[in-house]
Amino acid sequence: MDILVVGGGGREHAICWTLAKSPKAGVIYCAPGNAGIAEVAQVVPIQVDEFDRLTEFAQEKNVELVVIGPDDPLVDGIVDAFEEKNIPVFGPRKNAAYIEGSKTFMKDLLKKYNIPTAAYEKFDQYESAQAYLDNQTLPIVIKADGLAAGKGVTVAFTREEANEALKSIMVDKVFGDSGSQVVIEEFLEGQEMSILAFVDGETVRPMSAAQDHKQVFDGDQGPNTGGMGTYSPLPHIADSLIEEAIETIIKPTAKAMVSEGRSFRGVLFAGLMIAPDGKLKTIEFNARFGDPETQVVLPRLKSDLVDIFLAAINGTLDEVEISWSDEAAVCVVLASGGYPASYPTGLPILGQEKAKQNGSLVFHAGTATNDAGELVTKGGRVLGVVGLGSDIADARNKAYAAAEQIAFEGKHNRTDIAVKALV
Ligand code: AMP
Repeated sequence: MDILVVGGGGREHAICWTLAKSPKAGVIYCAPGNAGIAEVAQVVPIQVDEFDRLTEFAQEKNVELVVIGPDDPLVDGIVDAFEEKNIPVFGPRKNAAYIEGSKTFMKDLLKKYNIPTAAYEKFDQYESAQAYLDNQTLPIVIKADGLAAGKGVTVAFTREEANEALKSIMVDKVFGDSGSQVVIEEFLEGQEMSILAFVDGETVRPMSAAQDHKQVFDGDQGPNTGGMGTYSPLPHIADSLIEEAIETIIKPTAKAMVSEGRSFRGVLFAGLMIAPDGKLKTIEFNARFGDPETQVVLPRLKSDLVDIFLAAINGTLDEVEISWSDEAAVCVVLASGGYPASYPTGLPILGQEKAKQNGSLVFHAGTATNDAGELVTKGGRVLGVVGLGSDIADARNKAYAAAEQIAFEGKHNRTDIAVKALV
């Protein structure tokens, strides 16, 4: 069966790599892909927002399964575009992807169905938002309603930061229409955890849990990024807590979406906070695989990913086999110097083959091949190096040993990925 994966980051590299292991996979196409994806799939120079060209390509090549990676096209209705042409596609329709596309919708949904989340208020007027903000205690969290490339959330520890965040969203409109509403919410203290699940309507099949590291510097310092590293499983978090998250947050949310006429099919990704007293609250829902969570979760999948995607599409997700290896995985992201602010591109990358010699995986995020045929940097997050081992310590040692083999000018990575799990 020929397959088309839409996207071009580390997440899509991990998806293509996993699909390529399936005996059912024929040609795998990836649009637009990247230099690493080109090693496991045929890359196609079509961008993720070119719905007509993508659907025409899939028809022309008789593609029998389409998988959508990124949030933007999902929120804009790419799944509906493929479905209109009767092409089997894995991902939520536009009305279900709305759970990620609008934070006010997501917060109102959780409130209506009594699903635990941070207390909040929403505003569409700057003056009333500012007046409310003036009466809140710090720290406080300000969020643009719509998609903002992962940059729409500010955790403000000072009045200045809070006021500046609100002004940039609602007055300066730095995120455009995504900032026509804001959510101002209670600051949650604790430890974050990500649980991704394959979902079809009310059927929820959880994946192994993972933890991300959002801030750019060690010790969770500096600005938020798309994610600097992940690990899975989470040996320091009780299985009962993970089970509780599935039963009290993810399953009720899937059910709520069905009740609202927005039945969700795809990957539902819950960002959760575990408070110091062990209480769970929802931070966010995403409508897709996480990046870089996918890079540590999919390498641990023992079952056939093609079967899982097809089962979700055919309404048999409750029957398909989904099992996970006992191995641990740790992903260390190698970023361009300057990221998440501006950074140079086009810098040669050396040593990625050497990095793989200890069994580590190197997933490409922002890479390209230049005219001279050299591998070069092309994004803020460049590579995700994934170590696999008998436990987190082993996987972590392998990931860092492999990461050290790779060189490009200005390379930056955190040195404390997964230390929380070294119990
Ligand atoms: P989001 O895009 O909503 O996931 O937010 C991005 C990041 O901001 C999260 O992964 C958290 O680290 C942080 N964050 C968001 N909401 C809160 C909150 N209410 N309390 C504390 N941190 C938060």
